[in-house]
Amino acid sequence: MAEVTLFSRAKEIIPGGVSSPVRAFGSVGGDPVFIREARGAHVVDVTGRDFVDLVCSWGPALLGHAHPEVVEAVRAAAGRGLSFGAPTLAEVELAEAIRARVPAAEQVRFVSTGTEATMTAIRLARGATGRDAIVKFAGCYHGHSDALLAAAGSGVATQGLPGSAGVTAAAAGDTIVVEYNDLDALTRVFDEAGDRIAAVITEAAPANMGVVPPAPGFNAALRELTARHGALLIVDEVLTGFRVGPGGWLGLEGGYQPDIVTFGKVVGGGMPLAALAGRAEVMQLLAPVGPVYQAGTLSGNPLATAAGFATLRLADDAVYAHVDRRSVELQAAVAEALGAASVPHTIQAAGNLFSVFFREGAVANYEDAKDQDTEAFARFFHALLDDGVALPPSAFEAWFLSAAHDDEAMGRITDALPRAARAAAHS
Ligand code: PMP
Repeated sequence: MAEVTLFSRAKEIIPGGVSSPVRAFGSVGGDPVFIREARGAHVVDVTGRDFVDLVCSWGPALLGHAHPEVVEAVRAAAGRGLSFGAPTLAEVELAEAIRARVPAAEQVRFVSTGTEATMTAIRLARGATGRDAIVKFAGCYHGHSDALLAAAGSGVATQGLPGSAGVTAAAAGDTIVVEYNDLDALTRVFDEAGDRIAAVITEAAPANMGVVPPAPGFNAALRELTARHGALLIVDEVLTGFRVGPGGWLGLEGGYQPDIVTFGKVVGGGMPLAALAGRAEVMQLLAPVGPVYQAGTLSGNPLATAAGFATLRLADDAVYAHVDRRSVELQAAVAEALGAASVPHTIQAAGNLFSVFFREGAVANYEDAKDQDTEAFARFFHALLDDGVALPPSAFEAWFLSAAHDDEAMGRITDALPRAARAAAHS
């Protein structure tokens, strides 16, 4: 009961009771769980209930929550001061660690959120090319800046919003939206408007409409097409970066180099930190060297850089091997439970990221992703939650595992799956 009271209290003072929409359980119904603390693979709510967590803060908690060495790094940094508004050694070290893992990141600029990273990447591409238009793919989410909200995934998909009120026609008008994985459509757009296009922005492997991996060769073709028309390629690795492997999706796929890459989530180790990076020649257009302005009072914050650096240092091959293995195990367990209950489903993965679509047949784009039984997902979600397993509260999100998902945590999930599958089967 305490949670009902707390949610009512929250809604009185915070719109929807939440600081970010998808947390509100809007599409699955019911009241959100208010979290008090988290450790390893577990989150604990304000009433003391423990859940095995498959949200992992929507990606950052690659090592599990509150990893002792990350917490200690933040504690030590806090002892030296919370924010200086001046350059630091820690920023340089973190930028070097990023470049060591991602060769395309020749230079790095730190910001505080993924939204800022992609928003700045767009401005930089426009500054570099002197062109206005950008191309994004339906169902890809790149944060909530005006130009990038058109046909976005994540919370926009969850709430079924066409975009957002408050975005001017001019801002939306410079955004061309193309169906994901549709190279022919993109080629036609370039044939018609190629000389107006500053950049194509794409999720490295989309995970905000559920996980929809790029068709083989799709990202490389984006590289080729943009280069041919003098446009930049922005690869958004906010979600995939340092999660699907040491070098993110670019490291797994290889074979092409974007002009700009964006990072967030894991790179900040759970603290507000994100980055844009890319070819030095392009990055040198940012102020104070170049004419493209970008700034931030808290950018490169010392607590955030400490958490990010500690996380990257600890995220070794063994961590990725563990998360990869757990992902395969969990996909198999979900498939078995849903199959046994005769629930139509499709599981799609991009590296260790995966999601479950409550439909039959492969999902190649946002249209396919929307064509699923979200009510079956809601029943599945709530049955798992009742049994102490916290999934992302939307059918359009990836499931996140961590290095802390041990046999005990996996056992609790697999024990809960058959009942949840039966709940999904029966409306
Ligand atoms: N890009 C991608 C691919 C994302 O998944 C997200 C957040 N889910 C963002 C950008 C925006 O990041 P933030 O929420 O930190 O603004």
